[in-house]
Amino acid sequence: MVKKDGHTHTRFSHHGSDERLDNYIEQAISLGFTTYVVTEHAPLPTEFLAHFTGPVAAQNSSAMLSAELTSYQKEVARVQKKYAGQIDVKRGFEVDYLQNYESDIRQFLLAQADWIDEIVLSVHFLTNHDQLVAPIDFDPKTLATYFPKITQSPQVIFENYLATIQKSLDFAATLPDRFVVRIGHLTLIRKYQKYFNLPQFDSSNQLRIDNLLLQIKNNHFQLDLNTAGLRKPYNGETYPTTNIIKKAHDLDIEMVYGSDAHEASAVGQDYHVVESFLTKVKNKY
Ligand SMILES: [Zn+2]
Ligand SMILES: [Zn+2]
Repeated sequence: MVKKDGHTHTRFSHHGSDERLDNYIEQAISLGFTTYVVTEHAPLPTEFLAHFTGPVAAQNSSAMLSAELTSYQKEVARVQKKYAGQIDVKRGFEVDYLQNYESDIRQFLLAQADWIDEIVLSVHFLTNHDQLVAPIDFDPKTLATYFPKITQSPQVIFENYLATIQKSLDFAATLPDRFVVRIGHLTLIRKYQKYFNLPQFDSSNQLRIDNLLLQIKNNHFQLDLNTAGLRKPYNGETYPTTNIIKKAHDLDIEMVYGSDAHEASAVGQDYHVVESFLTKVKNKY
């Protein structure tokens, strides 16, 4: 039986713990995981960083730096060897979809194609009405500063977010077939839902999500079944939310558990929550 954590980080993220990768892997082994994908945030494009419009604190703490790429890959190779026979460590990146930087991202992925086993494709950065780009998951203040409508007209921000996910799918569809693409934490825009008292998606945004799921299905992408939100005080749900997981299951979309661990103790967290929910869905309750 395969037990897989498909979304995990390392000290190279610069917004998690400084622990060695060994600690993460040993945690996974101790919980009985058989497959472990290291998916550190890939370096952000140089041009994107040069024109960064988000909060200064997020500029160099959102991803590994280009200069760290080789060290990261060496680290992954080292643990693959060290823990061979105990756990299957796979090589990956969490890749940011960035509007207007598609060619930079494609170039990076093609250059790394031989190294990569799997990628998680995520939207963390959104363009606001002033054409400024900012992270949606940095902190509530940043979200409210760049996207003030989040308080009065949240559906408008949801729409912007879902349209950007749509673009990320269009982008992923242009990648060579050999890439295993998993769509990261699909409802991340809800990260601070309790802080802002966000409503559910309205019917037109639900329709957008239905269309995203169809496109995910038709392109044979996978869905990241991400439990990080369960650990976040202002969220308390999985990404995506359970109603979307049900729809994805009905469409027979492949879903892969991801802890999104930024510290060793988070590896494998809430795996049982996801597993028992999926069992219930499969048995139609
Ligand atoms: Zn991260
Ligand atoms: Zn992540």
